[in-house]
Amino acid sequence: MEKRVLFVDSTLRDGEQTPGVNIFAQEKLEIAKMLEELGIDKIECGFPATSPSDTEGVRLIAEHVTKTRVGVIARATKKDIDAAWDAVKDAKLPTITPFISVSPIHRKYKLNKNREEVLDMAVEAVMHAKQYTDSVDFAFEDASRAEPDYLSEIIQAVVSAGAVGLIIPDTVGYSQPEEFGKLIADIRKNVKGIDDEKCYLSTHCHNDLGLAVASSLAGVKSGAMRVEGTVNGLGERAGNAALEEVIMSLVVRKDYYQREVMIDTTKIYPLSRLVARHSGMFPQATKAIVGDNAFAHEAGIHQNGVLKERSTYEMMDPKNLGIGIGKIVLGKHSGRNALSWKLKKLGIEFAPDKLEKAYSEFKTLTLKKKKIDDQDLIEIASKLGVESISRK
Ligand code: MN
Repeated sequence: MEKRVLFVDSTLRDGEQTPGVNIFAQEKLEIAKMLEELGIDKIECGFPATSPSDTEGVRLIAEHVTKTRVGVIARATKKDIDAAWDAVKDAKLPTITPFISVSPIHRKYKLNKNREEVLDMAVEAVMHAKQYTDSVDFAFEDASRAEPDYLSEIIQAVVSAGAVGLIIPDTVGYSQPEEFGKLIADIRKNVKGIDDEKCYLSTHCHNDLGLAVASSLAGVKSGAMRVEGTVNGLGERAGNAALEEVIMSLVVRKDYYQREVMIDTTKIYPLSRLVARHSGMFPQATKAIVGDNAFAHEAGIHQNGVLKERSTYEMMDPKNLGIGIGKIVLGKHSGRNALSWKLKKLGIEFAPDKLEKAYSEFKTLTLKKKKIDDQDLIEIASKLGVESISRK
């Protein structure tokens, strides 16, 4: 059987750390319920020790989400882990994720601790969290900038202490995809006990160079079992890996990745809209998968192709993403076929000679107006004497 890829959604934790974003507890619950329907493995929904206001949202989610694991993060201290457990303990499937920085730059300037001290803190954190639950993940912050030998050593220690998900973050989005893939492959080679059912690697890539999705996929290709990311790529600075993009690459190019994805993709678009509404951050129009233009066609050749056979210019069916229909946008590059199709959608049917006149009117209008909307078409049609209008 092909190996599954699991997903962790951190929209409500890392995503909420997006500057300017503040999602209320009730809205968080709404998003969490839809994430549960999407079929992800874990909803990471807060950092209770540093944001007590997270706790309300975490408790609400813990109370209502039953099929998906509900997780929170904690620094590698007893106090943080206790606060984490206190927030999440009533969930049906609670998870705690302690983390610690492992790179020399973070050890020196952030923690002021040496390799051994950091390793001891990591092991103690896992052991302390395991007193509460067996579902303990661990994140090695800034892993992509750590010394490879030290990274293997600390991961090995954390595996021996009994952590389940081993999160390998590219915290500052520094890695190139090939490098990140190699990092995952090397860890699998050098650390014993990874990739059985008890313990596996999880990617957590940031998008500072626009590579978060590519690096996550490279990680999967190298055998990472789980991908962390956010809806619409929300997150600190340039954001996290956009989960919808990772998921759709794995679905569309299953031939290439050879991995199983148990995700209800028809929830992707509605979830993207819900997160956009509650976060106030709307994806750019050209954003892959969920942007307004992701399935919009303006060029005449493309429109003509799509209207005859969708797969000519669309290799995903928008219906599978929960998008009603692909969009045909009329503009100066559009052809007669698209105009006729759009008019028909408005209940207007022209004989060929009249269609020709309408097309010429339409082309003239595009010289003055950037986007042609339904109202413009209705005006053109009434100018030419509409033959039949039956609003469909
Ligand atoms: Mn992060």
